[in-house]
Parts: sequence; C-alpha cells; structure tokens
Amino acid sequence: MLIATKVRLYPTSEQRRFINGQFGAVRFCYNKAVALKRDLYRKKGISLSVNKEIKPLLSVAKKSRKYRWLSQYDSISLQEAVRHADTAYKRFFKKEARFPQFKSKRNRQSSYHCTSLSVGKDFIKIPKCEPIKAIIHRQIQGKVKSITVSRDRVGDYFASILSETPEKVPDKPTEVEESKVIGIDLGIKDFLTDSFNRTVDNPKELKSALKELEKAHKEVSRKVKGSRRRSKAVSCLAKVYRKVSRKREDFQHKVSKRLIDENQAVIAESLKIKNMMHNRKLARAIADAGWGGFLSKLKYKAERSGKFFIQTDTFFPSSKTCPRCRYKFDGLTLAMRQWICPKCGGLNLRDYAAAINIKREGIVQLKAAGLAVLRR
Ligand SMILES: [Zn+2]
Repeated sequence: MLIATKVRLYPTSEQRRFINGQFGAVRFCYNKAVALKRDLYRKKGISLSVNKEIKPLLSVAKKSRKYRWLSQYDSISLQEAVRHADTAYKRFFKKEARFPQFKSKRNRQSSYHCTSLSVGKDFIKIPKCEPIKAIIHRQIQGKVKSITVSRDRVGDYFASILSETPEKVPDKPTEVEESKVIGIDLGIKDFLTDSFNRTVDNPKELKSALKELEKAHKEVSRKVKGSRRRSKAVSCLAKVYRKVSRKREDFQHKVSKRLIDENQAVIAESLKIKNMMHNRKLARAIADAGWGGFLSKLKYKAERSGKFFIQTDTFFPSSKTCPRCRYKFDGLTLAMRQWICPKCGGLNLRDYAAAINIKREGIVQLKAAGLAVLRR
C-alpha cells in the first residue's frame, strides 16, 4: 500500500538556492517539452511523442554548452518534468484538461525525485544536495519510494514522501447492500447533499477564511503595480490562501473519511465540474468549493479500504430527472431549488433528487461490473 507523508523542510540559504535552481530546471524542461511539441505541430504539422522523441533530447542538451547547467540538478526529476508534459498533452487530447500551459516562476513550485533518497530522524537527503533539516512528525512507514519537494506561495518548503508498506489493499467484496450505497450531489450552496437527504455544509472557519481571501484579493488589486504596498498585500494574500487550503483539506479529509467508513460504495458525478465551468460566475464558486480535491480523496480512500467509488457519466442529467417516474424536466434552471414533476406531480428537491439519481446510476454501473446489489 502506498502512503504519502508531508513534512516541513528548513533548508539553509545555500540549500534554498539549490532547491530553487532545481525548480527552475524542472520548469525549464517542462516548458521546453510543451513548446517543442506545440511549435513543431503548428509549423510543420508534425506530432512528436513527448516521451519517445522529446525525452531523449534531454541527455543531448545536457552535453551542450547552452544547457550544460541542467546537469547540476537531479536528472530523474528532469525526466519526470518531461513526462508530466506528456501527461498534460494526453489529458488535453482526451478533453480532460485545457491546453498545456507554461509553468510560471510565481506559482507553487515543485520537483520530483525518486532514486537515491533517504529520510533520517530530522533530515531528508535528495540527490546533489546536502541533507536538509526537516520536521518529521510521523514516522515514515515502509519503504521510501519517492519524494516531491515543493515551495508554497508563502515561500515555505515542504516534502511529500511516498512510501510503500507490505500491507495489501483489501479485496473488494462481490456484493454490496443497497442501503450501504450512497449517492452524493456536490453543490455550491451546500457542500454536498446525499441520497438520504442529508446535507453537509462548508464549515464556518472555511467560510470565514474564504471571506478573508476575497478581501485580500481586493487589497492586492487596489494597490499600484510594482509598489511595495502591493508586494506586501501579495504576501498577505498568499498567507490567507494557505489558510483556506489547509482548512479545506482538513474538512475534505473528514467528510470523505466518514463517507467511505460508513458505506460500501460512494457514487458521485464526475465531469459535471467541467460542464459547469462554461459559466464564468459559477466557475469561481466551483473552484472555491474544491470539488476536484474532494473527489480524489474519496477515490484513494475507497481504494485503500476495499470500497467502491464510482463516478457517473458526464451527460447524465441528474438534477433534471424525476427520481419517481424518470421524466426529464428540461425547464429546470439553476435558480430553481425545487420543482414539481409535470408527469407524476411529485415535488422534487433539486439536490436530493440529484443524489438519488446519482445513486441509482451508480448501482447500474456496479451491477454492470458484475456485482450483486442486495436489497435488505
Ligand atoms: Zn415524476
């Protein structure tokens, strides 16, 4: 089983310089790979494989005078950067993500290392750098596999250590009870509504942190570009941003853990997020709700505990379908929180109805996968 542990790093100023240089090299390789593929396609109509044709260029580049500086840094992380560019293109072609963007110096930075890495009691050692002081709260379990070093927007350094324990992931059952299958509808007003008509709201601390974030954003935009006041406001914004993401992570971990612990299968919608992104105003709120992060937590928690997590199809109209008679109500607008079914006359609470439909669709998929869904 794979386990990720996050630790805070305290690099010396010299080590900081090295790590920042490493980030720069990773960024450079990623951006180069993205640009090479794009340019060759645009100018000559040639579609290069990032992995097969661009990656080998890396070792050639390191021998050249211009790019020799790259060899100061961990070579595995540079190869990984090129591989990431490949994944970004693949996701774009599968319509799962927008066109690959260049990585900027300003955002969160990260680099990946995987061989010759060691973790001590109060340090970690990555290739080509002296041991870096670290605070390791929890003992790393199992065999260390890889490490990702990152710098957040505040300027603090972290390492995420991936390790593998000999424990096996539990086998998934061949049958589930219908009462232990739950459908969830992710929303903006409430964080989620489930198929038992229970809602989970965003916690108060998160809401107030989000308000702070909005204020900090405004502060930045009010200040003159390039001024000292502005850079102060920017660093304040970064701190609030971190506060929001910590509170959100904490909340999402709790909710996803509870859902997985209490049920045998959790069903959610998958690509709705993307569909709704067409609406600009909503997009902001959706980004805030951090659904992507929540769904991925559900996914790995389910995998780890031998439970099912299913994401239903994109074009499944969960809110518009009457859960009683399956009538599709095309007149439903975003503002309508409830609606009366023109066919059977039943009252449908929008989010609750959606959660029931999502659950039903999930059960169809579970059965299609050969599972027995028992009614008790
Ligand atoms: Zn109906």
